[in-house]
Amino acid sequence: MVKSEPTALVDCHCVDCRRSAGAAYVQWGSVPRRDLIVTKGEPRKVPYENRIRSFASCCGTHLFFEDSEDSETIDFTIASLDDPIAFAPHKAIFLEDKLPWVVIDESIPSFQTIPKKK
Ligand SMILES: [Zn+2]
Repeated sequence: MVKSEPTALVDCHCVDCRRSAGAAYVQWGSVPRRDLIVTKGEPRKVPYENRIRSFASCCGTHLFFEDSEDSETIDFTIASLDDPIAFAPHKAIFLEDKLPWVVIDESIPSFQTIPKKK
């Protein structure tokens, strides 16, 4: 359950997301860690490349992405929400890894890697 509006709604085309999800790309949202509550079960955490991906232990659905155990925010897969309709992506990232047959929505900004911090 997420208790605040997700920010950083992105389509991530990076190869790690692609392989971990078994999908061409993954839609992510981000909330402060305190606003994400697991109400049932214990996700299976898989460390990889100094990051942590979590999967539902019952069905294997890709749920979360963390930069570290104590990062301020936690990313979650939009498509795993009960009602994901309201959370369209605001940008696309890691186009450098995009599969050539994926068509990008040109109405949102896209980036070869991640947007540069201002
Ligand atoms: Zn990614």
